[in-house]
Amino acid sequence: MLREAGVHVAVNTLLTGAIMEGTWIKGVLTESHAGREAVYGKAFVDCTGYGDLAAHAGADYTEPNDYPVANSIGVGGVDVEQYHAFFAAHDAVSQYARGWRSGKPDQIVRIDGAAHKLPADFVAEAHKIGMSFVTTTVHDDYFMFIKLNVKMPVSPTNRDAAAEAELELRKRQARAIELLRKYIPGCQNAFIARTSPTLCIRRGRLIRCDYDITLDDVLEGRHFPDDVLAYGFHDSAPRLQIKNGGTYGIPYRALLVTGIDNLWAAGMMITSDHEAHMSTRNTVCCMGQGQAAGTAAALCAARGIGARALPYADLRRTLEADDARGGVYFDS
Ligand SMILES: Cc1cc2nc3c(=O)[nH]c(=O)nc-3n(C[C@H](O)[C@H](O)[C@H](O)COP(=O)(O)OP(=O)(O)OC[C@H]3O[C@@H](n4cnc5c(N)ncnc54)[C@H](O)[C@@H]3O)c2cc1C
Repeated sequence: MLREAGVHVAVNTLLTGAIMEGTWIKGVLTESHAGREAVYGKAFVDCTGYGDLAAHAGADYTEPNDYPVANSIGVGGVDVEQYHAFFAAHDAVSQYARGWRSGKPDQIVRIDGAAHKLPADFVAEAHKIGMSFVTTTVHDDYFMFIKLNVKMPVSPTNRDAAAEAELELRKRQARAIELLRKYIPGCQNAFIARTSPTLCIRRGRLIRCDYDITLDDVLEGRHFPDDVLAYGFHDSAPRLQIKNGGTYGIPYRALLVTGIDNLWAAGMMITSDHEAHMSTRNTVCCMGQGQAAGTAAALCAARGIGARALPYADLRRTLEADDARGGVYFDS
């Protein structure tokens, strides 16, 4: 897809700075094995999660540090039925879904357990390492993820604190395997089949944009005259749900980085309210934001204009022509 679209793909390349002319980004600085480079452009989308480009460009931001960081493991050598039976025996099954697994239909593919109903010593040990019990799988002897969390004392943009968290997470991964082997029938041969190469964050910098989506916007299912996508999921359901099972809108303004003319933000770096962010940070919403921001950036670059000079109707027409769908869609 990227090749077909003529995208220049760069890997192992870190964005490290911005070349500014007033409130206009002229280019970015990057570092890779090839050394330091400057890449010039007309329009820029920050989808680094951390908000690195916006910060380098001088945008306003805060670092809420309101989530733990994580490094999940894929676990092999396990028995999905017995994992479920363990929770069922304690009347603790809190999530349960069936689907295709190892080529067979109607198999268990998602399980979670309610901690307060499980053996106290197991829960206490799991709590110490930030281990969650939820997992999904499409293979008979495999949990696709068991999540280990660490709450860092400072924002994950802090290099040295992030290194400490990386090391701690590795220890927690090994301990999680010990706990699975000890407490869960069918997991005596559990082993780490994969880890993420680095820790993953749920929030880095919070970048100030022209509109900040509120929890009220989300729960009331509010739409805006400049919607670029409609989204309808909340991580904290059923406690928090969108009115009438509907959708709310992400307005174009929510992607415009305040004070910078040609920079869009997309992904986990928008939305200050923690409970609203628990919806907007989800992957499908981030994808929709990315498509909208990328489309707007391409239109602006072609016309040589800034982000706020783009007529909304042109953006909407292009998104609809590109069939901006797949969980993300326009309500009307
Ligand atoms: C443990 C965990 C579990 C989650 N579970 C779910 C779930 O079940 N469902 C769900 O919908 N969401 C889930 N989320 C949330 C969701 O995954 C994130 O909010 C979402 O992926 C954020 O997308 P993003 O594009 O903003 O950032 P990312 O997906 O983090 O992408 C940012 C990219 O930018 C790159 N990057 C960063 N800085 C630079 C730089 N300076 N130069 C070059 N590249 C850079 C990174 O390497 C990365 O590839 C989970 C998150 C975590 C941490």
